[in-house]
Formats: sequence, C-alpha cells, structure tokens
Amino acid sequence: MQAALRDASRDTDKILILAVSKRQPVAAIEAAFLAGQTHFGENYVQEARAKLMALESLPIVWHFIGQLQANKSREVAERFQWVHTLDRTRIARRLNDQRPYGAPPLDVCIQVNLAGEPGKGGVHPDELEDLARYVGKFPRLRLRGLMALPPAAVDPAPFFAELRSLRNRLDTVGIPMDTLSMGMSADLEQAVNAGSTIVRIGTAIFGPRPTGPHPAPGDVK
Ligand SMILES: *Cc1c(COP(=O)(O)O)cnc(C)c1O
Repeated sequence: MQAALRDASRDTDKILILAVSKRQPVAAIEAAFLAGQTHFGENYVQEARAKLMALESLPIVWHFIGQLQANKSREVAERFQWVHTLDRTRIARRLNDQRPYGAPPLDVCIQVNLAGEPGKGGVHPDELEDLARYVGKFPRLRLRGLMALPPAAVDPAPFFAELRSLRNRLDTVGIPMDTLSMGMSADLEQAVNAGSTIVRIGTAIFGPRPTGPHPAPGDVK
C-alpha cells in the first residue's frame, strides 16, 4: 500500500484498508485486529451474524459490501457502520427507517454498475444522480461516496477513472462525497493511482478463502 501511494505521488494521503473477511473464521479476524486492523468487510448477512456476535467485545468497524436484499436490511442497519452496495431507493428508505436512534447515521456508498453488466449489483450511471439526491435526503444515512467492481479480466484502470469522474461530476451539481471505494487484492495499485480512498482487500491479507459452504452459525471458530 505504501509503495502504491508513493508511486501515485499520494504518500501523504489518507486511505483506508478494509479487510474483507468473508469466509474467514473468527480467529483470523481476531488475529488481524490484534495486528492493528480495525475495519472489516463482510458480504453475507447470515455468515456475518455469528462472527459479529463472537467479536462483539472488540471495537471493530463493520462494513457491509455484499448484495443487500430487502429482507436483510434491518440486520445491516442495526449491526454495521457502513454499506458500500446501496443501489436502489427501496433499500435506502429501509436502511434509514431501520437505523437505530442511538447510533450515528449509517455511512453509505452507492454502487455503480459501470459496464452495465447484467446480474451485477449497482445503479446505472445515468440513474446515479437521482439516486444520490434521494439518499441525501435521509437523516439516518450519510452519503459518503461511490463504489464499483470493474468487470473481471479486463484492465480496471478506465473503470476506476470513470468512477472518479462520476464523483467529481456530482460534486459540481452540489452533491459532495469524500469516498471512492475501489480496488481489491489484484488491482490495488491501479485503484490507488486513480484516487481510491477505501481499498477492499481480502486474499492479500488473509490468504485464499476457505472453499466449500459458508460457515454455519456456531461453526465460526
Ligand atoms: C471478496 C470481495 C473483495 C476482496 O477481494 P480479494 O480479491 O480477496 O481482495 C472486495 N470487494 C468485494 C465487493 C468482494 O466481494
């Protein structure tokens, strides 16, 4: 990360490393926490539930980065501090209404489907401004930025640049945002070079994810 920041002449910039712990056991998260990592990302509500409970005593900041179904939104609104994958009005309204009153507003990024890939989450770029205005009205949500997952197996750099220019364009129409959630283990350098402020890193921190079924609750150690 430091080398990537230096190469991009951003060595004094702030950037957050989000440790993506999906499919990783509680012990691996604990070990990373003890090494100084405080922000962790999970993709599946069902899998995250048991891990969050097991790690309740640690001051971890949890980010939800998976596709979010309406029937799981309450749990995310109650247990997570960030959602990176907001892409529709209905989920925005639910998260706002379900965010507990004692908690700070939920930090959200809107996911953008830059290449219009079917089956992938994210709002179409043409619909981004309307959704951003809608999200911005909710008092229990804090619109922080944009997130994207570029298509696999192509150069991600143009997509990262596109996400940044979308953010800059929204800024010019009165919707300022401080976050670009982009870059994973394989394309961290390009993302940092394009101005990422949160990189979501799984395998480069934890090693390969255990395969097989998702860990069942009670089976997380
Ligand atoms: C799994 C995942 C990551 C991390 O991917 P790695 O290649 O393991 O770094 C980042 N973002 C999202 C949305 C993911 O689902």
